[in-house]
Amino acid sequence: MPIPASQPLPPSADSAAAPAGGSVTDRLVEANRRYADAFTDPGMDARPVQKVAVVACMDARIDLHRALGLELGDCHTIRNAGGVVTDDIIRSLTISQRALGTRSVVLIHHTGCGLLGLTEDFRHDLAAEVGQRPTWAVEAFKDLDEDVRQSMQRVRTSPFLLHTDDVRGFVFDVTTGLLREIDPQG
Ligand SMILES: [Zn+2]
Repeated sequence: MPIPASQPLPPSADSAAAPAGGSVTDRLVEANRRYADAFTDPGMDARPVQKVAVVACMDARIDLHRALGLELGDCHTIRNAGGVVTDDIIRSLTISQRALGTRSVVLIHHTGCGLLGLTEDFRHDLAAEVGQRPTWAVEAFKDLDEDVRQSMQRVRTSPFLLHTDDVRGFVFDVTTGLLREIDPQG
């Protein structure tokens, strides 16, 4: 995937001087005011009611709560590009289980993922452009099912987690909204 030649970023919009309608962030802040107006304290503590952590891709087409029938307070949602189990995902899962009582892990990758089209060239091009190698792996993949299996394996074999017996992996189809479970054995 070609990386655009580096260009100076446009100056960020000064929110005080934002035109009518404002930036996207201005609109989010405005939406939040309406949300807070109707909000009542749910009176929950931080421990997820369903004792489950969902690790998923950051893809904008996946509405995890609606897709899984989850309510506010039910679960931890941990998202990154690809829903790949990186060290930072393990960090979050470790805190989720050891400090906040979750016991089950659900992994969700999806069809049409942006990482499917990437290769390690992305990393090489990035290093060439900025003159510095990223410390992280791109974690691109070509085989969705295999990547879900690898993610399940990384969770199951983590020495930091208390609960690795209920770890299940799925591919979410962004055109049908359906989950397809992945057999960890292939
Ligand atoms: Zn994705």
